Amino acid sequence: MSLTPLQIHDILDENREHECEGYGIHHVCVRIASIAELPSRFGNFQVVAFWNNRDDKDHAAFVHGDVTGRENVPVRLHSECLTGDAIGSLRCDCRDQLETALQALGQMENGILLYLRQEGRGIGLTNKIRAYALQDYGYDTVEANLALGFRDDERDYSVAAHMLQSLHVKSIRLMTNNPKKINDLTQFGIKVTERIPLIIPPNPYNQFYLKTKAEKSGHMMKVGEAVRFVEQLDLPLIGGMTLDQIGALHQNENSDNGG
Ligand SMILES: [Zn+2]
Ligand SMILES: [Zn+2]
Repeated sequence: MSLTPLQIHDILDENREHECEGYGIHHVCVRIASIAELPSRFGNFQVVAFWNNRDDKDHAAFVHGDVTGRENVPVRLHSECLTGDAIGSLRCDCRDQLETALQALGQMENGILLYLRQEGRGIGLTNKIRAYALQDYGYDTVEANLALGFRDDERDYSVAAHMLQSLHVKSIRLMTNNPKKINDLTQFGIKVTERIPLIIPPNPYNQFYLKTKAEKSGHMMKVGEAVRFVEQLDLPLIGGMTLDQIGALHQNENSDNGG
């Protein structure tokens, strides 16, 4: 059962008045602004739009089933990536991660995907495209990443933590391959009872990934050829590969592509 009209009415009422001292060093506070049904190709969801006091972004939660007052709710944090999520860019693996998470959540009893509007690690689409362009012109990933700047993790987790509290989730099972995320959420009072590995099923993306690896090990990579950015904080889990092996691939991408 998802939220009933009466529950939605009560939640919106409660949020209209909501004020707190805020989460994290930036005192982030969020309010649920609106809730609607969202049937999708991944199952039935409700979409929850949030207001916040920190940025002008409309962060959103996609909720499947009943999560109010529930323990051990599966949760996935996803950072917006226009080029990957909507267009299917192969410069990153965001769309695979998003679809895999939604597919899994839609089949579970309940679950939440938090869609955080932090395009390009929070620096926005334009700066992300600038960094892509630097790569196209031969900068290596590290140099282009310097242009990208670093993401303000603290703010990310404070928004996400407050969103989960606003949804009255008692404890979560975090769908992630990054144990650091669990510590960070815990700091903001979120009880994480378990980690669910995110496993990317075999698809064309895997082939691309392995092809990249093959090309690199065969020294067929042209100097200055564009490589993918890792825009989500997670590394994908790929069938047949250990986390170490996947991490090593990313390491190679960062070190082998000197211009
Ligand atoms: Zn608040
Ligand atoms: Zn992406």
